[in-house]
Amino acid sequence: MARIVQKFGGTSVAGIDRIKNVALRVKREVDAGSEVAVVVSAMAGATNQLVEWTNQIARLHDAREYDVVVASGEQVTAGLLALALQDLGVDARSWLGWQIPIRTDGMHGRARITEILVAELQARLRRGQVAVVAGFQGLGPDSRVTTLGRGGSDTSAVALAAALEAERCDIFTDVDGVYTSDPRIVAKARKLDRITYEEMLEFASQGAKVLQTRSVEMAMNHRVRVQVLSSFEDTPGTLVVDEDEILEKQVVSGIAYSRDDAKVTLVKVPDRPGVAAAIFGPLAEHAINVDMIVQNISDDGRTTDLTFTVSKADLARAVKVLEAQRKALAYAELKPDPNVVKISVIGVGMRSHAGVAQKMFSTLANKNINIQVISTSEIKVSVLVAEEYTELAVRALHTAYGLDAE
Ligand code: ASP
Ligand code: MG
Repeated sequence: MARIVQKFGGTSVAGIDRIKNVALRVKREVDAGSEVAVVVSAMAGATNQLVEWTNQIARLHDAREYDVVVASGEQVTAGLLALALQDLGVDARSWLGWQIPIRTDGMHGRARITEILVAELQARLRRGQVAVVAGFQGLGPDSRVTTLGRGGSDTSAVALAAALEAERCDIFTDVDGVYTSDPRIVAKARKLDRITYEEMLEFASQGAKVLQTRSVEMAMNHRVRVQVLSSFEDTPGTLVVDEDEILEKQVVSGIAYSRDDAKVTLVKVPDRPGVAAAIFGPLAEHAINVDMIVQNISDDGRTTDLTFTVSKADLARAVKVLEAQRKALAYAELKPDPNVVKISVIGVGMRSHAGVAQKMFSTLANKNINIQVISTSEIKVSVLVAEEYTELAVRALHTAYGLDAE
């Protein structure tokens, strides 16, 4: 008998009518003979409200109490969905993280799942009972409630699918799949039938917000077949699968962009061994992640300009850390710039095709868009450009790589 995990995101459970609609979808899967475990998010906006309340009481809060508050949104939707299912005559019960338990490490606010004990859940699934599991939450080593970081119920769902050895993990959301680019800015974006784990990981970490990055890592490591689909429509979604399940491979699968990055330039840093370590060491000590880096030797050959990116949320802290080091680093000027966008061309086909980066650079050049920083991985080329060119650049690249829908 097929065992399926279905996950419903915040917009899919935002209100009683929508929860009833979700119950009908779950019932359909049950009627088709599947064993079903459901993972739910909090109602859309609910978690933001809970975070806001904790901030209003204390900006620097006890992370353990933060978790107690923000985990509560999922408790509500899990209970309501179990009730809606019972109302349809489906045997169902809710499960909170600690009841299963879903064990995590002790990093409150962004905990990682370490173990899920599924024996009891499995026995009940076999008897035909639907498990409605509160996403986003777990049980820490201190026996207290933990949460998995924003968007974490995707990870709850994939982890549960892995533990239950489910045939598939369906992630129901407000879009009907993964697109070649953001349909809100590229009218000709196409829905992908299939995408590889590696590509999905790049999409998620380069700004496409369909799935939490950590959930894709987990799916890849445990080979969980994930499907992203709409809870409002009846069309098949996008399957996230192993590379050899994709027959017709495209060189480039899509164009992602992220406005979450900010640029920092240190002008005229003395060019001597150890400068990079002296700059990035203190940033790392303050847990500030650096993404792209370029270094330019200046005309005089004695100083260098160093440009790198950090997340926008970290920009103010990064500036503060570097200003505190001004004497030691001896740079002439520090220039922060939040008005940038990172645009990435992604595709596993790049491994075996040359010229992908070149096409990106010439396409942007033809539009007179200046590239500020470049970085690459095996299946991705990313550039940093001024934020005002986002739409123009993404659309031009989408056309250049032949991704436009007819
Ligand atoms: N409710 C949580 C959040 O908004 C978890 C999730 O929706 O995945 O971040
Ligand atoms: Mg989500």
